[in-house]
Amino acid sequence: MQESLARSHGSQCGFCTPGFIMSLYALLRSSKLPPSEEQIEESLAGNLCRCTGYRPIVDAFRVFAKTDDSLYTNVSSDNTKEGEFICPSTGKPCSCGSNAANETDTNGQSISCGIKHRPISYSAIDGSTYIEKELIFPPELLLRQRVPLSLSGFGELKWYRPLKLHQVLELKGKYPDAKLVVGNSEIGIEMRLKRLRYEVLISLSHVSELNNLEVGDDGIEIGAAVRLTELLSLFRQTVAQRTEDETLTCQAFIEQLKWFAGVQIRNVASVGGNICTASPISDLNPLWVAAGAVFRIINKKGNIRTVLAEDFFLGYRKVDLASDEILFSIFLPWTRPLEFVKEFKQAHRRDDDIAIVNAGIRVRLQEDGEEFLISEASIVYGGVAPMSLSARKTKEFLIGKTWNQDLLQDALKVLQTDILLNEDAPGGMVEFRKSLTLSFFFKFFLWVSNQVDGKKSVDQRVPVSHLSALKPFHRPPLAACQDYEIVRRGTSVGSPEVHLSASLQVCFPFFS
Ligand code: FAD
Repeated sequence: MQESLARSHGSQCGFCTPGFIMSLYALLRSSKLPPSEEQIEESLAGNLCRCTGYRPIVDAFRVFAKTDDSLYTNVSSDNTKEGEFICPSTGKPCSCGSNAANETDTNGQSISCGIKHRPISYSAIDGSTYIEKELIFPPELLLRQRVPLSLSGFGELKWYRPLKLHQVLELKGKYPDAKLVVGNSEIGIEMRLKRLRYEVLISLSHVSELNNLEVGDDGIEIGAAVRLTELLSLFRQTVAQRTEDETLTCQAFIEQLKWFAGVQIRNVASVGGNICTASPISDLNPLWVAAGAVFRIINKKGNIRTVLAEDFFLGYRKVDLASDEILFSIFLPWTRPLEFVKEFKQAHRRDDDIAIVNAGIRVRLQEDGEEFLISEASIVYGGVAPMSLSARKTKEFLIGKTWNQDLLQDALKVLQTDILLNEDAPGGMVEFRKSLTLSFFFKFFLWVSNQVDGKKSVDQRVPVSHLSALKPFHRPPLAACQDYEIVRRGTSVGSPEVHLSASLQVCFPFFS
């Protein structure tokens, strides 16, 4: 990996290289099968390169990707006018897949240009190959007993890491102002960048009762300290195992989590941390509310109360939690037949960016002769108010109406009066944000109409010109090249130059 990176990543920057290598290493160590190009790119998102740029890095790591072997073995040799073979890897004429140039000997080895090659398929590189070659994880660390920790830091700082819920509740009783922490992706920013000081921190990361995930008959119970990566993989499993009717909310969360920060943040950030921060642009809170999730809250005495997600958010970063209470778990109900839930997010860029506006929208339809009536609705936006905001007037307008083309225009008119943004609203881009609220609803309308199309004789068909709005965004793996100017004009200014230290670093033992 290091060698491949060293060869293509000319300058070997000491800041970014270790980060990229660790990200890919973690992916390879944890994958049972060779990763796809998309997975490799996803694992690298969140690392910054300030020297040579991303193209050579992605190129270097691409060799670990599962690719289509047939590209290399079955391509016709006369794919150019002259009959020369074009290498799918470099895009240049070569003999790597040419039938003419490649002969196969009796041992299944191919002979290309007189050199013998053992046929290596990318699919032969599986997780076990990596693991066999790697040092094992130290068994004494695996066997080490977890113990509750209590540490003191600078100033009066105290840091606790309990293992059981009752220990958390005792600590919360003793220190009502203590700050709970799991992934530290919000608190870390508050303490380092906003210079906020907390005297007592209680880590919930190892508390077993808060890390439970339970799939039941009515839905999923999610412990507040469950990390987003774990949640994503549970949702993926659930979607594979249960009916589509039941799992439309899980599907919506999967799509939203794809664009939630990067892998590194999702590996540590918790569900409860995102909910309790109550950020007005949280990507998940509009979905919890729209999906009808229920939050379970526990106090220092161990009493549990439940509150609808819709009623939990009280204002800017303010939630319905007393000082002796913590969020215990989240219950997410399955969707029912003819119930539809969808996520939306618009940011400046897809990867690793916070939303300008996001939304979670749900309707439940009910058959009424040849028509569908709306029996339930929930439309919740982020990025348009100090907290996740329900479009209540629109919801009330929709309930009882028939789902048809006429409904759309009327609903958009009501929605315009429901989500109000002043000209001087924090965040700016007021007109754009207003139009996003409408276009999300428009897309939702098209999506639901497409889902119910054909279920009744009433025509719900989405016009062909609108069909592209239904497709989820898909970005193909990156492909790029760089042209080097080889004619020297007496100056390096404006022309790409190989970094002087590149050859030294390529020869450095670390990379050899
Ligand atoms: P922590 O920082 O540990 O805690 C956050 C808050 O929640 C604290 O006030 C803590 O006391 C409280 N808390 C935690 N658990 C409980 C509990 N059980 N009961 C009561 N209070 C509790 N957010 C998005 O929505 N979308 C994004 O795309 C996104 N991208 C990000 C990218 C980066 C680089 C970073 C740094 C953050 C990003 N975030 C994003 C925000 C952040 O990652 C999430 O809000 C995250 O889920 C917080 O979880 P945590 O475990 O790290 O919280």
